[in-house]
Amino acid sequence: MPNKVIDGSKCISYYTIELKDALIPDKVKGKFDNWMFGCDVCQDVCPWNRFATSTKEEVFNPIPEILNFTTTDWEELTEEAFKKIFSHSPIKRAKFSGIKRNLSFLK
Ligand code: SF4
Repeated sequence: MPNKVIDGSKCISYYTIELKDALIPDKVKGKFDNWMFGCDVCQDVCPWNRFATSTKEEVFNPIPEILNFTTTDWEELTEEAFKKIFSHSPIKRAKFSGIKRNLSFLK
């Protein structure tokens, strides 16, 4: 962006986590690079992160149930399983309906 300003209205994390609309606008179709919930590119490009060290905090460990999830597993995920698997995960912020919306948008 000009002047090193981030345009939050184009942020993948905004659309996939914070947007509460039933649909993601077509104008951003094909621009999510398959990110389904949030986006970690900020972490990748932040110059301060070169000083970061890995955490040993268990709460940041991956959820074992989804480590080998396929696209089909995500598409067939039920609301009941969603609530069980993600009971302690930030993914709950998008809600089950938001995750389903995001998955549909990526097709
Ligand atoms: S890198 Fe990802 S999370 Fe960061 S502003 Fe851009 S789209 Fe949003």
